[in-house]
Amino acid sequence: MKYFDVAVVGGGPIGLTAANIIAKSGFSVCVLERRVKIGYPSHCSGLVSARFIEENSVKPELVLNTIKGAYLFADEELLSFKSEESRAFVIDREKFDQSLAEEAQKNGALIFTNSAVVSAKKGKVFNELYLQNGEVIKSRFVIIASGAKSGVNRMFDFKDEESEVIYTAQTDLKVFLPDGESVYMYVDDSFAHNWFAWIIPIRNGLAHIGLGTDRTENIVDDLKKFIRSSEFTKDADVENLKPIGWIIPIGLAKKIVNGRVLRVGDAALQIKPFSGGGLYTGIKAARFAAEVVVKALKTDDVSALNEYKTNVDREITPIVKRGLLLRRIYRSMSDRDKALFLKGLNNDEAKRVITESGDIDSPFFVGVKLLRFIGTPLMHYFKDILTGSSV
Ligand SMILES: Cc1cc2nc3c(=O)[nH]c(=O)nc-3n(C[C@H](O)[C@H](O)[C@H](O)COP(=O)(O)OP(=O)(O)OC[C@H]3O[C@@H](n4cnc5c(N)ncnc54)[C@H](O)[C@@H]3O)c2cc1C
Repeated sequence: MKYFDVAVVGGGPIGLTAANIIAKSGFSVCVLERRVKIGYPSHCSGLVSARFIEENSVKPELVLNTIKGAYLFADEELLSFKSEESRAFVIDREKFDQSLAEEAQKNGALIFTNSAVVSAKKGKVFNELYLQNGEVIKSRFVIIASGAKSGVNRMFDFKDEESEVIYTAQTDLKVFLPDGESVYMYVDDSFAHNWFAWIIPIRNGLAHIGLGTDRTENIVDDLKKFIRSSEFTKDADVENLKPIGWIIPIGLAKKIVNGRVLRVGDAALQIKPFSGGGLYTGIKAARFAAEVVVKALKTDDVSALNEYKTNVDREITPIVKRGLLLRRIYRSMSDRDKALFLKGLNNDEAKRVITESGDIDSPFFVGVKLLRFIGTPLMHYFKDILTGSSV
């Protein structure tokens, strides 16, 4: 049996960020990761904002591409816009996770790979974690950062609480794109039901190509259909695709603290429901979680953990709630109405608003600014925003 002040379950970006802060503060911390190699395989597109790069001091060598614009396709409509400055960055998720692990180890965190947590016992002072490899870990605090639907939540009496699950498949292919500094997003219910599909250029002609859908069946067939349908990918060899499948859980987690246990990141649904981005929100929450655990360890006062909920409710919950509202609107619109929405934005003034205020961390606020370009037939979709209810 091994003893730690804190055990973090899950060696993804969120767990590793929390572990690093705790280790830096001088407390003993381990990360328990079920996979053999940190960061591998990556299911993520790695699209993040400039704010994310800055706040997390992401090293330039982890940035694969700079994004300045977008091509949005819906039905027969195409809306494209491009800014002078970088609006987003594509980071190498595998190397990003590995760099977080190196940093945490340098500060004293122990990272155990091949260490799936299979059961747990909650105690008044110590929690016990039982690993698939037979090891037992005892710790005063546990941070659950085990990602979407991992089962660890239930070991500590947290409910999954998601209202929706999006199933995703992504692969990397060589493609020829007219603009390597733009992302290509497709709205089409026939392959990306109630979500969207994407082509995100990385470098050297490679692009992340993927989609999400709320349908459980035939996602690989959906991906093939998308690849065949896009003029940029239609000649790619789809027969030998080896996409990585994963899920995006959507919803609002009400309970995120239970005794000496916290949950964070995808495990706590700290994901933007409209885009599926979880790095910005999750890492912010990981900092809150680690800071309150350090405080509780220093003061020997478990009630300090309640501050985590307060901080999350102040900074993360509003982002999730606004995203849930956008998501509800998006789901209620037909592909044709989404196309009409794009058509309304296909003018210089609307594009100026998008390029000046577009922010992948806060799509809600630019969305509100764009409502004046939307024709009356679509206005009923946005009545909750216009009347200020549910925001
Ligand atoms: C297709 C796709 C594209 C995405 N693109 C973006 C994007 O462009 N930008 C963005 O911001 N976000 C994106 N996201 C979301 C982002 O990937 C997640 O929000 C982020 O990975 C969450 O990090 P995490 O550490 O909470 O969970 P994860 O990254 O899932 O890490 C959890 C870790 O816990 C481990 N684990 C699980 N169960 C156990 C167990 N029982 N014992 C031990 N270890 C366990 C897992 O192996 C995993 O390594 C995307 C998601 C998907 C599915």
